[in-house]
Amino acid sequence: MADCELCGAMKVSVRRVKTGKTEVAACSRCVERMNLGPKETAPGLAKAQSMHSRPAHNSAYAARGKKGKDIMLKTEKELASDFGKRITQARKNKGWNHATLGKRMAETVNIIKATEAGKRPTDGVLKKFERVLGISLWVVASEETTTQLDRSSSRGMTLGDYFNENS
Ligand SMILES: [Zn+2]
Repeated sequence: MADCELCGAMKVSVRRVKTGKTEVAACSRCVERMNLGPKETAPGLAKAQSMHSRPAHNSAYAARGKKGKDIMLKTEKELASDFGKRITQARKNKGWNHATLGKRMAETVNIIKATEAGKRPTDGVLKKFERVLGISLWVVASEETTTQLDRSSSRGMTLGDYFNENS
């Protein structure tokens, strides 16, 4: 038993509680009235802990974003399937024969002929064809064609199923 330093009550049960920077002996009434009890500090502590856990969520979100960006960058180009025809056409448009093109590219006539016949040379040679002839041999991997094929086939199947079920 002691005296409450806040309200002056004498010979009461007191608790040591903090009021700002000082610690005082307070009776249970004062503790309740002034919200100085230890229970009142708990919610504040929990709040601080939840705030500390937020950066973890943020970094997880950032990691997903980065992964998505990597997928976006994977838009690849592929060599046109008719690269030989494109080269032949471009060469003829310029009025060059195999020898002329070979000379301008510093490649042998055999390589020119083989490439026009559909035999793929090194990427370096292909890039020389593009540069000398002013053409493009790489195309973006065609998502459009794939999507159209998928759509038409799935639409056909759906219609077929529909009619089969109702006949
Ligand atoms: Zn008191």
